[in-house]
Amino acid sequence: MRTTLTKTMEFHAAHYLPTFPEGHKCRRMHGHTFRVELILEGPVPAERGYLVDFGDIKELAKPVIDELDHTVLNEVPGLAVPTAENLSRWIYERVKPLLPRLAAVRVHETANNAAEYRGGT
Ligand SMILES: [Zn+2]
Repeated sequence: MRTTLTKTMEFHAAHYLPTFPEGHKCRRMHGHTFRVELILEGPVPAERGYLVDFGDIKELAKPVIDELDHTVLNEVPGLAVPTAENLSRWIYERVKPLLPRLAAVRVHETANNAAEYRGGT
């Protein structure tokens, strides 16, 4: 039985997006409550009935999310251009070694806008 789990975490941060066109509002410093979905996939052992303990996901991923919380994201190493696209990849690359079942990271910048990274290029 292959199953997908989603663990949602949040952080608050400021950013500005220097690659957007001159005059675009996203070039100005502003903040979001970012919502991060950590998506894990794999087979559920019948005898156990669960894939990964949600509490373990939170505990393992929290130090990564804490690196972003209440920061100016542009100042975080590797996030000079902190778009939702780049954030999802940045989080994936740090959480994947801790949680091998991680299949994707989805970053919601607002209620309506999200980017997802699934590894690869
Ligand atoms: Zn923004």
